[in-house]
Amino acid sequence: MEPVRTCIGCRSRAPRSSLLRVVSQNSHVVADVAAVLPGRGAWLHPTPECYQLAVRKRAFGRALRMRGEVDTGNVENRLNPQVMTNE
Ligand SMILES: [Zn+2]
Repeated sequence: MEPVRTCIGCRSRAPRSSLLRVVSQNSHVVADVAAVLPGRGAWLHPTPECYQLAVRKRAFGRALRMRGEVDTGNVENRLNPQVMTNE
């Protein structure tokens, strides 16, 4: 059985493989596409909708136990198809 994780944006549960893992690195939230980075991770549907929901609810900081400003620009870029052409 595939593990199920909760999307921090819409809070619905989904198979791990359908979600994007994000991890905290200092004050940055980084997209962990291969789900291999160490540290505390959170899971998000890789859609602008769930990203915006998570930002609005400050879910990144809460899920990743981050203090102060949380920079989610890396994740935002990852969800933008225009910048994924080099991957
Ligand atoms: Zn979602």
